[in-house]
Amino acid sequence: MIVADDRAGLLKAREALGIGAGASSGGSALALVPTMGALHEGHRSLIRLARERAAHVAVSIFVNPLQFGPAEDYSRYPRTFDADLEVCAAEGVGVVFAPSVQDMYLPDRQVGVSAGEMGSVVEGEFRPGHLDGVLTVVLKLFNLVQPDVAVFGRKDAQQLAMIRRMVADLNLPVSIVGGPTVREPDGLALSSRNRYLSPDDRTAALALSRALEAGSGRRAPEEIRGAALAVLGAEPSLAVDYLVLVDPATFAEVGDDYAGEAILAVAARVGSTRLIDNVTVDVR
Ligand code: AMP
Repeated sequence: MIVADDRAGLLKAREALGIGAGASSGGSALALVPTMGALHEGHRSLIRLARERAAHVAVSIFVNPLQFGPAEDYSRYPRTFDADLEVCAAEGVGVVFAPSVQDMYLPDRQVGVSAGEMGSVVEGEFRPGHLDGVLTVVLKLFNLVQPDVAVFGRKDAQQLAMIRRMVADLNLPVSIVGGPTVREPDGLALSSRNRYLSPDDRTAALALSRALEAGSGRRAPEEIRGAALAVLGAEPSLAVDYLVLVDPATFAEVGDDYAGEAILAVAARVGSTRLIDNVTVDVR
């Protein structure tokens, strides 16, 4: 496994592994799994998906300051680099790309990606600028690593939808693959932020997945929202940011006459930890 921290290191790694200029031109394909580190079983599942899609897998580990708001947890975000390298080695990763903030962003940086209207709804309403920051770093990672395929978790459903939009809107030559959300046996979606939860917080946090499960048992939009909100409302130590039922491609709220797949998404704070989760629901 090669660890690179800049473009020169990545180019050397590509050469050493015999990765060509894209699978379409005869080289062997490279799949990228972008992460912020503190790797858990959810990340591992994405790495395994990536291995099914390409001969070589690159994992990027970069806590991206651009996607954190001023009052968010950038400085206390968990950083477990040595353990992350062990996970990557055990999962057969060929290249780990771990740049410094200084290597990623010029001090006089001006240009970035705008997530547009779609970046200001749902998560974007509660985290202004977050999706701009995500798209900017993902585009930079694509340019640096030059993957043929990139794998993202459906746990961050709006992020995944926005990355698909960016690829379509900007004609990026990368196939996007979405991986299912990995959960604890009791339903809690795995997240690097779960390690902040006290035992009581963790119990309260279970209301997110229980609410989604309750909602996904219903078929009409109002019943879906109502069933999920009833579960959330019964957990007094949750502060709910949103519970929405949205179109998977646009993240616009679905109307009462909607039929088809929708995403039921929730965000809530437990103590000082903010958690998100979602499920796909069949609306009729
Ligand atoms: P992060 O390190 O939190 O930025 O996440 C890196 C990638 O892992 C993103 O594509 C996430 O959607 C994905 N991911 C995070 N948690 C999970 C999970 N529980 N199951 C599947 N994928 C996940």
